[in-house]
Amino acid sequence: MSKNTIHVTSENIFPVIKKFLYSDHEIFLRELISNAVDATQKLKTLSRSGEVKGDLGDTRVRVLIDKKKKTLTVQDHGIGMTAEEVDKYINQIAFSGAEEFVSKYKDKAEAIIGHFGLGFYSAFMVADKVEIVTLSYKDDAKAVHWSCNGDTEVEMEDTIKAERGTDIILHINKEFEQYLEDATIEGLLKKYCKFLPVEIAFGKKKEWRDGKEVELDEENIINNVAPAWTKKPTDLKEEDYKSFYHELYPMQMDEPLFHIHLNVDYPFNLTGILYFPKIKSNLDVHRNKIQLYCNQVFVTDEVENIVPEYLTLLHGVIDSPDIPLNVSRSYLQSDNNVKKISSHITKKVADKLAEMYKNDKADFEKKWDDIKMFIQFGMLTDEKFYEKAVDFALLKNLDGEYYTLKDYQAKVKDNQTDKDGNLVILYTQDKDLNYTYIERAKQKGYDVLEMTGELDVHQMSQAEQKNEKLRFVRVDSDVIENIIKKNANDNANDNYTDEQKEGMRKAFEGLLPENSKLNYYINCEATAEDALPVLLTQNEFMRRMKEMSAHQQGMSFYGQMPDQYNLVINTAHPLIKDLMSKMTSETVMDEKVQDSSEKKDDAGATKEMVEKTVWTLKDQDERLKQLFDIALLASGQLKGEALAKFVNRSVELL
Ligand code: ADP
Repeated sequence: MSKNTIHVTSENIFPVIKKFLYSDHEIFLRELISNAVDATQKLKTLSRSGEVKGDLGDTRVRVLIDKKKKTLTVQDHGIGMTAEEVDKYINQIAFSGAEEFVSKYKDKAEAIIGHFGLGFYSAFMVADKVEIVTLSYKDDAKAVHWSCNGDTEVEMEDTIKAERGTDIILHINKEFEQYLEDATIEGLLKKYCKFLPVEIAFGKKKEWRDGKEVELDEENIINNVAPAWTKKPTDLKEEDYKSFYHELYPMQMDEPLFHIHLNVDYPFNLTGILYFPKIKSNLDVHRNKIQLYCNQVFVTDEVENIVPEYLTLLHGVIDSPDIPLNVSRSYLQSDNNVKKISSHITKKVADKLAEMYKNDKADFEKKWDDIKMFIQFGMLTDEKFYEKAVDFALLKNLDGEYYTLKDYQAKVKDNQTDKDGNLVILYTQDKDLNYTYIERAKQKGYDVLEMTGELDVHQMSQAEQKNEKLRFVRVDSDVIENIIKKNANDNANDNYTDEQKEGMRKAFEGLLPENSKLNYYINCEATAEDALPVLLTQNEFMRRMKEMSAHQQGMSFYGQMPDQYNLVINTAHPLIKDLMSKMTSETVMDEKVQDSSEKKDDAGATKEMVEKTVWTLKDQDERLKQLFDIALLASGQLKGEALAKFVNRSVELL
């Protein structure tokens, strides 16, 4: 037996290792199994090159629990190590790696992802003593027994071992006895090792027979050694992708809509499959997360800093040995490789969508409603994605037809360009509620889009920002003649004086409900003879700001504003004309306030009494109320008591 001292400068790194990544101590198992898999893969490579001759025999990696001895063993039949190699790789390299790691991060443990880095020494997070029994594949190699009980002294001696390979034996610390439970270990193996390239066996297969669980002879293999993303797309059928999806997310019942197989080897390595799920609302998001692997070893499903945020709406796997994993999360975002990976995935996803749209428009349209949120989110948050996505992002009109913005502009350009050269795109967020307004727009031959998605408002604002002479206007934001003004004096002229109109305004004003959340501005306008006599409209800008503020921070100012409506009294309508004719006038003396702007030194305004004509409408309250309620009704705002009153009044009038 020989006693070696490990080459560590700091007195004792074990207390640090034990404390380290306390919350993440389960990763020890992944680290040890990764080593076992590496050793097995190396052996297979040597065998292929002829350096190792003959049949390799059993190459499974096994995880064994001995409850009596309180040990957990990771066993492989890989290349093994000679005494020199144990000294070099374990005593020197592994220790110095661990030491470097600890000295680098000991003051900022929270900055570590905790995914990779500690390697073999992570065993000391959960074990008091670790033994290695190993036999190298090399001819005439002698088996070695190494042991260390958590201080800087290790023991090494020759031993007898029949089979090539390595056993790593952990004497589990009292505090961590959960790692001697089958269920815990099986859970961890399923989490980290589900797709490792070498078979991992844990216990025996079990089966339910006559209501009892019985153990079979066959070993229980944890992993699928050749997951779909490692294969060539040409070797996979649609069903293979679907069944792999369910392998990834066993609890998921829905089928994915489609997938993208990623395969890059320059300038970095990346493979993976991304699936498009149906995304109906924000609530669906993050249930099935994208899983990140490093050479088939599960690393994390927290990929927020590795792929752009909108891509986290997708499902699937990304496998890349080039993503640095032992660094802090904030560092990841500025890492060049990560940036490249991110932009590559963005490009791939955009290209695939573009290709799908080009190849089968009808099919793409069918999927549109389910993927639009993803695409809009991408366009809003990623300029590069936007540039590509404008060519396949769709708009849907009330006839159920889909158009790209460019095609739609071409379609409505001739009829919906106003006198100032603005192309006005009309839309509704509720076709039943806006029915009256939509009909009016249709009479003019205008087309109306349906914009009911959560991100539609943002999409419209973005399109307006990118296209100077483009406006999206909801059909009920004004009378249609004003929304798309064709000529300067487009509207029918009325011959009423300002005083008469003021009288009509006042008559309606007296009827307005008192509600602090709603504000009404009343004005008279000769819209068109065949338009409604009174119409409620809601200013596009204010309404949209309010809607956007619901999703965005820093815009709550708009959210708190009361809803503002315009009540347009259509003086071209026969009913209003009739009311106008019933108005009476009188002359009163009124205080006129003179503008004092010319005389700056004057303290205030000079008051002067002048004659003024005042028009009033008497005994028409019932009709006015009826008209106002019709306006409310046409905009879907007549409810509750007001609605009941309207119904009763209507019956009485009849
Ligand atoms: P890493 O795996 O990152 O190199 P480790 O500390 O986990 O660091 O392991 C150090 C070295 O010890 C490995 O590179 C390998 O050469 C050797 N080693 C560890 N485990 C085994 C094993 N099961 N079989 C053969 N060699 C091993």
